[in-house]
Amino acid sequence: MRLSRYFLPVTKETPGDAQIASHQLMLRAGLIRQTAVGIYAWLPLGNRVLRKIETIVREEQDRAGAVEMLMPTIQSAELWRESGRYDAYGPEMLRIRDRHDREMLYGPTNEEMITAIFGASTKSYRELPRILYHIQWKFRDEVRPRFGVMRGREFLMKDAYSFDLDEAGARHSYDRMMLAYLRTFARMGLAAIPMQADTGPIGGDLSHEFIILAPSGESEVFFHENWEAPRTADELAVSPDDASALRAFVAGLTADYAATDEKRDPAREVEAGEALRTSRGIEVGHIFYFGTKYTEAMGMRVPGPDGQMVVPEMGSYGIGVSRLVGAVIEASHDANGIVLPDAIAPFRVALINIRADDARCAAAADELYRRLEAAGVEVLYDDRDERGGAKFATADLIGLPWQLIVGPKGVERGVVELKRRATGERQELSPDDALARVAG
Ligand code: ATP
Ligand code: MG
Repeated sequence: MRLSRYFLPVTKETPGDAQIASHQLMLRAGLIRQTAVGIYAWLPLGNRVLRKIETIVREEQDRAGAVEMLMPTIQSAELWRESGRYDAYGPEMLRIRDRHDREMLYGPTNEEMITAIFGASTKSYRELPRILYHIQWKFRDEVRPRFGVMRGREFLMKDAYSFDLDEAGARHSYDRMMLAYLRTFARMGLAAIPMQADTGPIGGDLSHEFIILAPSGESEVFFHENWEAPRTADELAVSPDDASALRAFVAGLTADYAATDEKRDPAREVEAGEALRTSRGIEVGHIFYFGTKYTEAMGMRVPGPDGQMVVPEMGSYGIGVSRLVGAVIEASHDANGIVLPDAIAPFRVALINIRADDARCAAAADELYRRLEAAGVEVLYDDRDERGGAKFATADLIGLPWQLIVGPKGVERGVVELKRRATGERQELSPDDALARVAG
């Protein structure tokens, strides 16, 4: 992509109402714009980060055996009266009336809808277990929207729902999602700790929140220091299909103490002793098992193997896809701007021509651009007629993993400069070697 044709409105000023680094940087680097309180437009660069995160989430849901679908954002109040949540949900629910005065709402979550859809078409125990998911916008009229996309009113969530015949099956589905979540966050370069959590208004008794440690986090969390050495996706390569092997693996992983404020366990904290840590944290995902709460209320029953009717056991599993964009930046930035992990970078390389008015530089940069594109390397080419200093500042601010710099002195000697954004390390290389390096 040529920057001269892109839409990247970067700013020098730090917006006054943005309190935390990730929010300031997302505005300054032209990732988002607020269009109403707690509602954001995703500009081209921000949209690419969002889609990269979405893709990792999707790949790991698929690996875990979950099946993707897409449910609408607008729901009918009727559905929510069936579960009893229409009145219970309170002012966080955005309630709407259509032209026929029918009560509608902008969905804050989808337990009722999936139970209605899946329940109506499932006629036998042989159609279970299933895990279904979608990645869709949600609306919650938060009392205090803040920190940009971290606590917005409209936000993108991946929500999955499991249906099982019995508790043991539901436990396996839960473990599938536990593993998928650990892998998802590890692939994004994030250390997200699964913490024992309260089940909140949804009810049930088995629940973990996935928390990224950050001083700006809204929750207070307590954990064993062993969690400070996060696992890589390669260390999480177990198959999700073997229930007992997976159970043992997850039990091993979650053996060390980690709990949110509501779920603190004094005995285990004494046991952890000197190794007990406390921090602020950002919740990026939440998984919970709640049994038959919705299937019961909404009358979903299937004939079991012995002819008796079974009420399926459910769990639901959320990831804050749009919140993650903020959370990753909160965890990875420096004084010059964003430092994006390779896995979710909107482009892999910022190609910078520091002398757009020099014909030899322009020809060399054009050639590199053509070769990067041909090699399938995502590149943002700063071909604008701007000073080198401004181009460097923009490249640092938007935080692409590599900067490939073309200037007159290098062109003279047949070399280009390659800079790694995360470390600041610079190297002069031949164009061939530079291409091989960034493609790797
Ligand atoms: P929180 O405690 O932060 O309000 P929640 O417990 O209400 O979140 P869940 O219902 O568990 O949220 O939703 C699943 C995920 O969706 C959360 O883990 C979070 O990452 C994300 N999420 C929830 N509310 C918001 C919001 N207002 N803005 C952005 N992401 C959100
Ligand atoms: Mg939650």
